[in-house]
Amino acid sequence: MADALRPEPLNMTLVELGRLDCRWPVSGEKDKTLFCGHSQAEGSSYCEYHKRAARSRGTVSERNAMKISKVLL
Ligand SMILES: [Zn+2]
Repeated sequence: MADALRPEPLNMTLVELGRLDCRWPVSGEKDKTLFCGHSQAEGSSYCEYHKRAARSRGTVSERNAMKISKVLL
C-alpha cells in the first residue's frame, strides 16, 4: 500500500507554510514547530496521509468494538 506510507515531511515553519499546505506538526513546538508542508487533500487542512491519520485518532477502540459486535452476532 504505497499510498499509506508516511510522506517525508518538508519541515516547513508556520511562516513558510502556504495556504494549501498540510498543517500537520511533525516536530518542534510553539514558534519552532515544523509542519508536513505537502499539498492539502481536498476539504482538509492536511495532506492525504495526515487527513487519514487525523480521522483515525481516537476511533480505534470504536472500530474494534464494531468488529467484536459483528463476531458476536
Ligand atoms: Zn501531511
